[in-house]
Amino acid sequence: MKRYDHIVVGGGISGLTLTLLLAMNGKKVLLLEKGSHVGGSLTRFDKKNIPFDTGFHFTAGFSKGGILTDMLQVLGISEQIKPIFLSGPGSGVFVFEKDNLIYDVSSGTENFRLSLHKYFPQETLAIDTYIAKVKKVWQFTPSLDLRKIGVSGQAIDEDYLSLQQVLDSLTTNNHLKGLLSAFCVCYGVSPKETSFANHARIAGGLYESVARLQNGGEAFIQAFKNRFSQFNVEICCNTTISDCTEIENDCVGKFVLTNGETITSGDCTFTIHPQEILKVLPRQYFKKAFLERVAAFETSYGFFCVSGIVENVDPSNFGPSIASLLPSTDLNDLLSPKLKQETALAIIRCVETGKDGKKYCTVNAFGPEFYPHLKQWADSTVGKRPADYYEYKAQRVQRVKERFYTLYPQYQDNFKVLDAASVLTFRDYLFSPEGNAYGIKQKMGQFNLFGKLPLMNIYVAGQSAVLPGIVGAMVSSFIVGRNLIGKDTFSNFIEGALSN
Ligand SMILES: Cc1cc2nc3c(=O)[nH]c(=O)nc-3n(C[C@H](O)[C@H](O)[C@H](O)COP(=O)(O)OP(=O)(O)OC[C@H]3O[C@@H](n4cnc5c(N)ncnc54)[C@H](O)[C@@H]3O)c2cc1C
Repeated sequence: MKRYDHIVVGGGISGLTLTLLLAMNGKKVLLLEKGSHVGGSLTRFDKKNIPFDTGFHFTAGFSKGGILTDMLQVLGISEQIKPIFLSGPGSGVFVFEKDNLIYDVSSGTENFRLSLHKYFPQETLAIDTYIAKVKKVWQFTPSLDLRKIGVSGQAIDEDYLSLQQVLDSLTTNNHLKGLLSAFCVCYGVSPKETSFANHARIAGGLYESVARLQNGGEAFIQAFKNRFSQFNVEICCNTTISDCTEIENDCVGKFVLTNGETITSGDCTFTIHPQEILKVLPRQYFKKAFLERVAAFETSYGFFCVSGIVENVDPSNFGPSIASLLPSTDLNDLLSPKLKQETALAIIRCVETGKDGKKYCTVNAFGPEFYPHLKQWADSTVGKRPADYYEYKAQRVQRVKERFYTLYPQYQDNFKVLDAASVLTFRDYLFSPEGNAYGIKQKMGQFNLFGKLPLMNIYVAGQSAVLPGIVGAMVSSFIVGRNLIGKDTFSNFIEGALSN
């Protein structure tokens, strides 16, 4: 029977990160992935030999001393991950479509603050107080500093106040409120549901810098695979755990895999959706209240995505840029599954190199989509959906095109849509319940599944643990890694890697 020091379940950025961290610290690791390849939401796909993103499109954290820069350095993959920063006029715009208002904000927190002063001269105190609060949250969040990661932080008022409460206390200007809460779309929780602190942890990073990557999420996947070949890592795709047996003293003795093998391992970490984790663990080891808590976690929304190209334009003038289109100033309405009107829409313009070596001006547009709205087609699978599903998709694509042309009329005659994906597509390709983009909704006052479970050698990390997005997912794996490796060894490891 094969024996490992550690099993990691799920081959997205969380699982890849934890696998490498443990392997670099001398562990023999088995990475189990249910799909046919590792990468999860990092995976790209080709249409007409041009690469497009599925999940991951852009990130914060790449500024000097930024948490992502540090994590990549520690993992020894920073050389292979090349950020392309979004900066300069037009690279970050917020559009209130109903009022035809466009705010072109600069990157860098200080530049962002000054851009807002220009647009809202009556609101400078509100803006400065908001930015000061964001900075305070960062100062009191040890997990955003790799040298302090995993150290318990001090709770602050902003952990117990919703984003909405803070905004309402600062201003009555709805456009300013809308703009300051627009990044809720990047983590899937509305201003009334999220704590200001969680909002600040994500939005604060995005105010400081936004970057895409050369070769997108595929750069991560290749970098991890290259590093794995130097350590004791085994990857097993199309496989997961089907059962846990020989449980003694609250520790799982054997893991039964879907490929028929039974293996032993010191520990095992799940990086998948919390409700999926509990499906493979024996329920008798968990208290009723615990099971009810996990069952009550609400899944975040997913996205309807449109991928296309603009032909016959100059690639040197084509992004990278992100435009956030908001049909209303109230993000609570826009992120509610009860939404009847148009959704928010993010439009990313960037240049990609096709397999033929040519440069292509690509467009990725994505807007929140709610699984319950597609319930009628939930039993269908990719490629075998009914005609009315395709009609629904065609209508959404048409609306995306109309909104795209309103913002960029110069592309009216040469934008070609190459593909569109709904939450059902994401569900089927990424094995995420309901095709969600960010795992569970991380709401104020909610106690997420994270770290050690009641079964002593079973751990949980992943996007649903601390914060969603690739930074939050990686941070969760660093924190669990610290527990598994041991605090002192981990500190020396981090210090050694960062001082190189
Ligand atoms: C459309 C979209 C756009 C997004 N845009 C951004 C963005 O621009 N920036 C950003 O930072 N974040 C973005 N996100 C979110 C980000 O991609 C995720 O937060 C992050 O990649 C999650 O990583 P993960 O490893 O926790 O999960 P995943 O990437 O979902 O990986 C989980 C892996 O586990 C596998 N798996 C599932 N069930 C099992 C099982 N039972 N056994 C074994 N394996 C299993 C899956 O196949 C998958 O490979 C976006 C997400 C989506 C869907």
